[in-house]
Amino acid sequence: MTRRVTQAAFLILLFLLPVFDIFRYDTETQELFLFGKVWSLGITGADLLEHSVRGAGHVAFQFFVNAILPWIIVLTVFPLMGFLFGRLFCGWLCPEGALFELADFLSMKIIGRRNLFIKNQNGSPVSNKQRLIYAALAVLMLLTIPPLVGIILTGYFIAPKTIAREIMAGELSTGLKAGIIGVSIYMFITSILVRHFFCKYVCAAGLMQTLFGWISPVSLRLAFDKKNISRCTDCKGCEKVCFMEVKPRNPKRDINCVNCGECITACEKELGKDNLFSYTFGSKDKNTQKQ
Ligand code: SF4
Ligand code: SF4
Repeated sequence: MTRRVTQAAFLILLFLLPVFDIFRYDTETQELFLFGKVWSLGITGADLLEHSVRGAGHVAFQFFVNAILPWIIVLTVFPLMGFLFGRLFCGWLCPEGALFELADFLSMKIIGRRNLFIKNQNGSPVSNKQRLIYAALAVLMLLTIPPLVGIILTGYFIAPKTIAREIMAGELSTGLKAGIIGVSIYMFITSILVRHFFCKYVCAAGLMQTLFGWISPVSLRLAFDKKNISRCTDCKGCEKVCFMEVKPRNPKRDINCVNCGECITACEKELGKDNLFSYTFGSKDKNTQKQ
């Protein structure tokens, strides 16, 4: 439940960033908005004409602070998060991952398995009537969520006020139509066919977290208590809930774990609070197998 709240909160945050000019690029005025202000290098024509050491220092400083530093921060966010928390962002915040999980849930209810490419039946049985209701829900979501996400993402390039005006007037600009159609096609393909394959092998943010989390001696990881493996009832609950298709009990280290904690919850249902999984930073002891 906590994870659903963080995923929803991050989705709302992404929606609000362009609305409050916290971050967006306006293609009409060609201005970049950052925290409510139009971003600029902070260098005037007069600064460039001043031929003195002080003037050159001022230009260099402004360029570093306003152009190089933001890029350094942007480029280090995901590696740093990976180094400290592994793929925690993917499991707890990423809106795309959350939508894939929603698609997994509906697939499980409709076809009894997480996606089209899994052979084993791992969903709980539902009646035909329930299956129909879930299918109708899936169609409704497919028709509403992609265009909505398209509108939200277009807000990063066209002023949200302009978008709202266009929608209310029923006259969508080419840019808005392109945003809605492009995002919808992308989401149809990724949510029906690709899903977590994208997280594992394509997403740059995910791959950076994987790499830095994997090499980090201190990052947050899922730990399996090998010492007490005899308590495992082999219910396979931990494997069934893992949408990244990691085998949580497998001693082989798997770099795809997104620290979602679903296997912890599954094992807790079977063995109670004192179950076989936990989170750990770095390596705890020899008997604990890190993922
Ligand atoms: S192994 Fe557990 S924590 Fe890691 S992705 Fe799978 S369910 Fe989530
Ligand atoms: S959920 Fe726990 S008890 Fe069940 S198979 Fe996994 S480790 Fe074993």
